[in-house]
Amino acid sequence: MADSVAQPLDGKQAQAVPEKKLNGASGLSIQLPPRIARLKDIAYNLWWSWYPDARGLFKYIDRTLWRNTNHNPVRLLAQCRRERLEAVAKDPTFLQWFDAVLADFDLYMAPKKTWFQAAHPTRKESVAYFSAEFGVHNSLPIYSGGLGVLAGDHCKAASDLGLPLVGVGFMYPQGYVKQRIGIEGWQQNYYDFIDWDASPVTHARLPDGKPCVLRLSLGNWPLHLGVWKVQVGRVPLYLMDTNVEGNDAADREISGRLYGGDQIMRLRQEIVLGIGGTRILRALGVDARVFHANEGHAAFLMLERVQELVSQGQSFEEARRQVAATTVFTTHTPVPAGHDVFPEDLVAEYFKTYWTALGISREEFLRLGRAPGGALGWNMTALALRLADRRNGVSRRNGHVSRQMWQPMWPERSVDDVPITHVTNGVHLATWTKQTVAEMYDHYLGKDWREHQDERQMWRRVHQIPDEEFWSVHMRAKRELISLVRQIVRDRWMRDHVDASQVLAGGALLDSEALTIGFARRFAAYKRATLIFRDMERLKKILMDPWRPVQILFAGKAHPADENGKKLIQQIYQLARDAGVGGHIAFVEDYDMHRARYFVQGCDVWLNNPIFPLEACGTSGQKAAVNGVPSLSVLDGWWEEGYNRENGWAPPETAELPPDKRDEAEAEAVYSLLEEKIVPLYFDRAPNDVPIGWVRVMKEAVASAAPVFCANRMVKEYTDRLYFPGLERENSEILEPHTPT
Ligand SMILES: *Cc1c(COP(=O)(O)O)cnc(C)c1O
Repeated sequence: MADSVAQPLDGKQAQAVPEKKLNGASGLSIQLPPRIARLKDIAYNLWWSWYPDARGLFKYIDRTLWRNTNHNPVRLLAQCRRERLEAVAKDPTFLQWFDAVLADFDLYMAPKKTWFQAAHPTRKESVAYFSAEFGVHNSLPIYSGGLGVLAGDHCKAASDLGLPLVGVGFMYPQGYVKQRIGIEGWQQNYYDFIDWDASPVTHARLPDGKPCVLRLSLGNWPLHLGVWKVQVGRVPLYLMDTNVEGNDAADREISGRLYGGDQIMRLRQEIVLGIGGTRILRALGVDARVFHANEGHAAFLMLERVQELVSQGQSFEEARRQVAATTVFTTHTPVPAGHDVFPEDLVAEYFKTYWTALGISREEFLRLGRAPGGALGWNMTALALRLADRRNGVSRRNGHVSRQMWQPMWPERSVDDVPITHVTNGVHLATWTKQTVAEMYDHYLGKDWREHQDERQMWRRVHQIPDEEFWSVHMRAKRELISLVRQIVRDRWMRDHVDASQVLAGGALLDSEALTIGFARRFAAYKRATLIFRDMERLKKILMDPWRPVQILFAGKAHPADENGKKLIQQIYQLARDAGVGGHIAFVEDYDMHRARYFVQGCDVWLNNPIFPLEACGTSGQKAAVNGVPSLSVLDGWWEEGYNRENGWAPPETAELPPDKRDEAEAEAVYSLLEEKIVPLYFDRAPNDVPIGWVRVMKEAVASAAPVFCANRMVKEYTDRLYFPGLERENSEILEPHTPT
């Protein structure tokens, strides 16, 4: 079936392969005593990661192993000593707890009622959510930063709300880059192979029970795709893998690493994601009717769906309209340079039989991917804007910037009428709220606060929590953050015998009494990690005040090919090693979701100073806020919507200034806010040592942000406004984007 792309794939063309050991399989397997056999069900569903009692079960089995496996229950159960498993299977305390968790799990998986059933009682169709990365849990390192974590949070909230959703993405066997910092401050990259047998992944199976392998053929390029399944509560995540038999060495690498490789590799990845992903869903028998592309990487899915309909007899134009009405496209990228653009000739090489199958000419096909005004090229965002009728940015500001940027596609419309709306991102509260904080909310907001998380009125009750209790819960989170940081450098010291100065740079001298500022995210230049160093003398005065000490904790990875990002890390690291700052600046290696949780829960202030308006939304500040950690942030992304003068701090806007003056003005404003507002408020203590005024800001951060920037609000908004109206709207107005000629 070479060049057979015109045929829609169905189950017949998905062939079975014998199950075999793949690269990265360790041969571990789980053998449990019958009484606790269903622990395996829990270990293989990432539901456990946001359900504390389930996590507690694994911890109870073997605390040390739990830590040594990086909180991976599949590995824990596979490596646990037989005697210990036998012992817990007879331990009444454990069994009572296990039975309760299992009952909760079964209820979660087959609920009596969900929000979705109540709000959309007649809907049965699934939404397919495509993303190049998914950040679900650390034990599955297939994310690089905010975009992936957003996708993971989206799946989790969909699961909680009962929205039928399936995720489609990549299994990257080498995960994302891991980071170590050398003595000179240079980021060293390394990769760990995912151990299949010790990961919560299984082969996705065809309706007849055989593992699914798909053959894809595009241009002269044949490819085999394997599919893994990860269960995220009720939401299955299908992850494609090209490291399978039948592919040549280069193609096996396509899904090797997240964002690795050259343009050809990248185009192939996006073909696999969009076209392969759609065919996989069909082969697996998933009834997906609404498709959501998280960023342009997945936009080929839209072409594939048009192709399916054309092959069933529709005209290209009819098919395009039908697909557009049921496709949601989310764009996050506020600068033209950030969008994927491929040479047209390269795209044509792969799609040379595809346009015939679509019933259009080469020229008509290539026009689908041309951005107005720009150079010739195949622009994935332009493609998505043409083929998806539901388009959104990820914050109010980002929606506006997107309308401005893409207005030339609708030349007859004013910027405000460009049909791109916004749905502001939110975070999955059960994942990001610290357990002790959540317990405090249980007590003061009511046990059912998670179900009411998008109701503002309920969150006002946060102000009734006694200040002393609120503060001591936070101080505990902070001490745990500092312990974690020390543990990380202690391990490096013992294992790698790093230089003592590296132990200090990594945070050995941190002080839990100091006001702790956190800055942790990917090291992309626009995020300006080093802005706060513009005036070192002034900063040192702030940091080193003996009575009111301040410290700054940095973390984050640079993309392995981003030399500028690595230079920023180096600059911070060298300062952190400098005796002159006395350990008040630290850089924590290898930031990931696990470390992120400690950071957003344990810092005192969350610093964010991107170049306006380049932060599409920013979600780490939202995670901090729901834990009572206020932001000090420029008014960009979510903060422009979230800031209310009482829940944190913001330097005045400087959008009018030229870049160098702007940096100076914003750094200046950050120093002034620290000197005049933040530090004095933090150290203004009541006789019981509680900073009353500060705690008020913390509580306001929670009360104002949690109901608005939670993932439930976000997923409900997508569901009500973007996913389902299109299914009804057969013949209503469709906003036609302009196609350049
Ligand atoms: C939430 C999160 C981010 C997002 O950071 P922002 O700069 O706020 O968008 C990045 N990395 C990790 C690991 C996260 O958990």
